[in-house]
This record gives sequence, structure tokens and C-alpha cells, in this order.
Amino acid sequence: MVDNAPGGQVGIAQIGVTGLAVMGRNLARNFARSGFTVAVHNRSFAKTQSLVADHGDEGTFVPSESLADFVASLERPRKVVIMVKAGGPTDAVIDELVPLLEPGDIVVDAGNAHFPDTIRRENALRAHGLHFVGSGVSGGEEGALLGPSIMPGGTRESYESLGPILEKIAAKVDGVPCCTYVGPDGAGHFVKMVHNGIEYADMQLIAEAYDLLKQGLGASAAEIGEIFAQWNTGDLESFLIEITADVLQHVDAATGSAFVDVVLDQAEQKGTGRWTVQNGLDLGVPITGIAEATFARALSGGVAQREAARSTLVADTAPWAVEDRDAFVEDVRLALYASKVVAYSQGFDQIAAASAEFGWDIDRGAMARIWRGGCIIRARFLNRITEAYERDAHLPLLLADEYFTQAVGAGVAAWRRIVAGAALHGVPTPAFSSSLAYYDGVRAERLPAALIQAQRDFFGAHTYRRTDRDGSFHTLWSGDRTEQDA
Ligand code: NAP
Repeated sequence: MVDNAPGGQVGIAQIGVTGLAVMGRNLARNFARSGFTVAVHNRSFAKTQSLVADHGDEGTFVPSESLADFVASLERPRKVVIMVKAGGPTDAVIDELVPLLEPGDIVVDAGNAHFPDTIRRENALRAHGLHFVGSGVSGGEEGALLGPSIMPGGTRESYESLGPILEKIAAKVDGVPCCTYVGPDGAGHFVKMVHNGIEYADMQLIAEAYDLLKQGLGASAAEIGEIFAQWNTGDLESFLIEITADVLQHVDAATGSAFVDVVLDQAEQKGTGRWTVQNGLDLGVPITGIAEATFARALSGGVAQREAARSTLVADTAPWAVEDRDAFVEDVRLALYASKVVAYSQGFDQIAAASAEFGWDIDRGAMARIWRGGCIIRARFLNRITEAYERDAHLPLLLADEYFTQAVGAGVAAWRRIVAGAALHGVPTPAFSSSLAYYDGVRAERLPAALIQAQRDFFGAHTYRRTDRDGSFHTLWSGDRTEQDA
């Protein structure tokens, strides 16, 4: 059903969507299918017209050609979802919207904004008495239509009226919506950013597992696809493992080869992984799994460097010829699970650090709960994370939770065999290896950081603390080497 707003009904739509490319169009359809009267608008009217022409029978749409008519068609307090290209376009739409709105109205940016932009925008709109909700939306175009995972920030007050609408269109797992209030200003977009960073790590780990199976067993893509399909029936069950099994078994129609074998091996990115790593550096949180995954994409795209290295760098190793196939497959599975736990543990540390830094008070268990459905990293394993934070909401390290301590501990020997084997046979496994190094680092009784502190004191008088008494000290390295209180 279509209600035309211009000169027609005013104040009838419960929610509005401006920006009707793939994401906005599907989100608007989801609102309409869920029973809401939804106002729709796009900079170029053709997209609005095509939405109502193609899907007008799915619910009640109120199309407008001008932004003023679109705003007028909304019930008060107005709820406007912006779903345009992130960056300048979002600011342009906000600038046009603000003079048309009234105090108490709610503006939702559901695009992939960088969280510092969201903090800035929330601040600016608050001065106008408007609620600005930076909301992560995950799940791509299918999620937007059938139920995404939604991570809204902003004020709690705005969530009271907006939340029930978002929860209705979100994915559901065991009847629980994959949407909850995340925290003030940039918290929602921050959590979405870390979600994407974890997605990078998860994908890289899966890709390394595939390469290990390929090189260790000499298995075909289809055979490896079967192994992934088998893994998807256990602890690793997840959307990414499921689609990996599917992709590996897909045959290229043009050549008859395995599809994965005809795809160019240069991974691209849109930038959320990079933002996550940059923020990890800013906060001083070691998110090595996400960083390795991001750099692995950069390495794969370094065509000139790879060309220069391919025929010149010495491998000095023999190909891997695994004898016990089943034992090897199980080792790779255990190493994948352990590395994955490390990547998630690091991502949740990053959320905790940002939450403390910005005063967001983010409930990490709730974040794992709303990632169980709708989004790319949805997985059985997320239940375990929620349970861990239910046992201890202030858990300093996810890896140290009793379940994960045991689950990872049971696979450590396998993990070491795989990383050592990969190194011996020249198979690049940056995420598997660095995750194991992180695991050994974080559990170490004593780290060589002591030597670094001594070096820093030597060349820069940066001082050090001692194990046997309080205080800061400096040794007169170029003098008589006596120690002074600093
Ligand atoms: P998009 O290609 O990122 O953006 C196209 C939309 O932005 C069109 O509606 C376009 O209007 C509008 N737009 C561009 N510049 C504008 C301006 N200056 N003023 C007003 N409108 C402007 O669309 P998308 O792929 O649907 O993504 C929308 C948002 O969701 C983005 O922030 C994206 O990062 C995020 N997101 C996307 C996905 C995904 O899987 N695609 C997943 C999660 C999140 P016209 O039609 O008039 O050009």
C-alpha cells in the first residue's frame, strides 16, 4: 500500500528511511513488512519510485520527493534513519535535515560511520535538542531485509521509543532480538567497527586453515569444503564456516575448475579493519589477530612486492606431506578454534578499553548476544562468550574464563604442532602464529619487556621500576653506573 505524502497525509509514518540504495531499500522493506508505516526518501527520486513500484505491496510506504515532505510525513517525535554513503554524504543529509526537525526528534545514522564522526555529530545535534543515534547495522543487504544485527548508540531516552521498532526488525535467536542499547554517542558505531575487525580476523583464520589443509594434505577445494561442512556441525558452527564450505565446493562454470582456484588472490577492504587496528594502537590494546588479518590483505594486494619476492626469496624447505590425515585435520580444527578465541578475546578487550576511555559502560555479554544472528560473524560460539560475561561481567580477559581456559587448553598441543609445521614447511599463517604468540605472551610468568625497559633507560633515561621495591629508578649508564631514584 502506498500513501503519497505531498499534499496528502501528514504525520502518519512511524519511521522514515532516507537513502534507498541496497541497504536503505531493504531496511525500509523490513520496517514495512514488520507492520510499520514507513516514510521513504532518496536524493534522486527514481530510487524511491522504484522501491514503491517493486515492493509497495509488502506494507505501507509513504514516498516523498522532497526531504521537507518526507519529514512532514512522520509522526512526532520523528524517527529518521539515514542510510547513505558514509562520510560527507551523511553530513550533507544531516545539514539538510536539522532545520526541518524539532527538539526531541531522533536521527539515526545506520551507515558505516567512523565512531569519532558519530561523537562529533551527536554533540552537534544535541545542541539542537535532537537525539542522534549512531547505529551499527550488520548483515549486508540480506540482513537488512530479513533481520540484521543492530547496534544503536545515543541516549537511553531515544532507545525507549526507537528500541522497540529496531528490535522488531532485527534478527531473532531463540526469540531474543539481535539488537540492544549499546551506549552513549559513538558506542554503537565503535562496536560495529570492532565487529568488522573480528570479521577480518575470522575470515583470515579460515583462509589459513584452508591453506594448511591444501598444502598439508594436497587436498582439492571440494575435499576441503567437505571438511568445513563437517566442522560446521560442531563448536565452529558459524555463518562464515558454512559459506566457506559452500564456496569451496562451487565449480566455475567457465572453466570447470574449482571456483576458488580461478579467483585472483588479492584481498580488498573497505577500511573498517584498518580503523579497528588504528584504534587498537591508540588504546594500546594488542589486537594482533585483527592486525595480522588486515596486513595479510595488504600483503596479498602488494603485487610489485610479491612479484619481486616470488622467484628470488629462498624457501629452503620441502613440501608438506602429512601422513596421518585425520589427526592433521583435527589439529587444524583445534588450532583454528583456539586462534579464533584469541581474536575474539582481543576484540572484547578493545571494547572494554574504549568503554572505559569514553565512559560508555558497554555490556560485553550483551554484544556477543546481539551478534548471534543477522550478522556476518554469527556463530554458536558467541553463546559461550555471553555465558562467560554472565559469570563475570568484569572479566579482565575472555581467554581466562573457565570455559575458554579449558577449551583452548585442550587444543594447545595441536596448535603448536600446526604453527611449527607451517613454519617448517613455509606455509604463511600470520594469524594462527601471532595468536599463539599472544597466548604464550599473555600467560608468561615473566616477559623480556624487562630488557626493553633497561634499554630505554640506557639510551633515553626513561627510567624503570624494580621487582623488589616501589619507585622509579635510573642507572647512570655513562657514568659510574650507580642507581638513582627517578
Ligand atoms: P551506498 O552505495 O554506500 O550509498 C548510496 C546512497 O547514498 C544512495 O541512496 C545515494 O543517493 C546516497 N547519497 C550519496 N551521496 C549523497 C549525498 N551527498 N546526499 C544524499 N544522498 C547521498 O549505499 P549502500 O551500499 O546501501 O550503503 C548505505 C550505508 O550502509 C553505507 O554507509 C554503508 O557503508 C553501510 N553498509 C553497507 C553494507 C552493504 O553490505 N552494502 C553493509 C552494512 C552497512 P542517490 O541514489 O541519489 O545517489
